[in-house]
Amino acid sequence: MTDTERVQRYRARMQRKKEIIDAAIARADRKQGLLIILTGNGKGKSSSAFGMIARALGHGMHVGVAQFIKGRSDTGEEAFFRNQKNIVWHVLGEGFTWDTQDLQRDIAIAQQGWAIVQSMLHDPSFDLIVLDELTYPLKFGWLDLTTVLRDLKNRPSMQHVIITGRGAPGALCDSADTVTEMTDIKHAFRAGIQAQAGIDL
Ligand code: ATP
Ligand code: MG
Repeated sequence: MTDTERVQRYRARMQRKKEIIDAAIARADRKQGLLIILTGNGKGKSSSAFGMIARALGHGMHVGVAQFIKGRSDTGEEAFFRNQKNIVWHVLGEGFTWDTQDLQRDIAIAQQGWAIVQSMLHDPSFDLIVLDELTYPLKFGWLDLTTVLRDLKNRPSMQHVIITGRGAPGALCDSADTVTEMTDIKHAFRAGIQAQAGIDL
């Protein structure tokens, strides 16, 4: 094949590709609030949600965050986002279950937390709500999945919700618009490396 033929073939291929992509863009003509689930065992769920918070704030949107299992109080995301305007940051869990070891208390805190989330889900001024690590109180049965699904379904139509955490229940994924499963291929922690500021917290 000559260089000219190679250039022409490439151009024709890209032209076909552009037509397919343009048609797909034209088909996606609806606007709506999205329910996004970030689950799986690999790293990147919460930090992906924090990336979308930055995007939303950049567009002047109003953001609410609820963190259900609070491992530590010195995270970079909390220090950074709490100082921004247009964001409300709720810490609704006390710590990892293996630290608190008090079941009734964990259940009560999760349920009080959901009441706060309900008030945000009723408030159309929130453009984006992030429910970080919500899958754990669902998995442990501290929150009723049917209630959570109903409240999510009844939220304002343009409100986006992002839920993070391992082991997202199937019914939650079924009701979502976008579901991503992070795959754990390797993690530095297993090689004995501590959680690193700016990367893990
Ligand atoms: P990140 O907040 O970094 O996006 P994540 O939300 O996907 O992580 P979590 O399950 O919430 O992951 O874990 C919280 C902490 O554990 C973070 O410090 C994260 O970097 C770390 N971590 C995430 N995945 C793994 C893993 N597979 N092995 C060990 N540590 C992990
Ligand atoms: Mg996380």
